[in-house]
Amino acid sequence: MSYYAAPIARLIEEFSKLPGIGRKSAQRLAFHVLNMSEADAVHLSEAILNAKKNTKYCSECGNITDIDPCSICRNEQRDQSMICVVESPKDVIAMEKTKEFTGVYHVLHGAISPMEGIGPEEIRIKELLIRLQKDKVEEVILATNPTIEGEATAMYISKLVKPSGIKVTRIAHGIPVGGDLEYADEVTLSKALEGRREL
Ligand SMILES: [Zn+2]
Repeated sequence: MSYYAAPIARLIEEFSKLPGIGRKSAQRLAFHVLNMSEADAVHLSEAILNAKKNTKYCSECGNITDIDPCSICRNEQRDQSMICVVESPKDVIAMEKTKEFTGVYHVLHGAISPMEGIGPEEIRIKELLIRLQKDKVEEVILATNPTIEGEATAMYISKLVKPSGIKVTRIAHGIPVGGDLEYADEVTLSKALEGRREL
């Protein structure tokens, strides 16, 4: 038997499906919703539905967008000859926040992971190769995560792209800011050393 009235139990149930939300947080959110004005509750539910209905993947880069091609792909100020390959749309946001990158992106929607049965066919590598044939691309920057899967994916793409003569680079993964050299594992440290730049 539930302690909650059925509609509240259902709301808690739905909130607890969200990432990072445990039972307690779900309960807190549900009671927060109950205390909202009806207008605010409508706004919240509409925002969820609207985000779901009005977003899609960009047919060029695979990023999440409401217009196709996305605002980055259609921006003439962006250098279309430089493609930064990332695993997820969240990585595009992280890269954009640095304000350092002026090229365009390619979102793979995952990384190769034999352990989880994710092969090259399951992520958007084929689409990347088609783009490389179609557009005048000079450099492919592999910005997959510094994990075993991310490294394997970068190696795989690099092997496919290099014969075409397009420059392939990998972003340097180093010690996180505020990180301590002492606590960095060897992979991180060797990658940091590898990616060193002249000062
Ligand atoms: Zn795009």
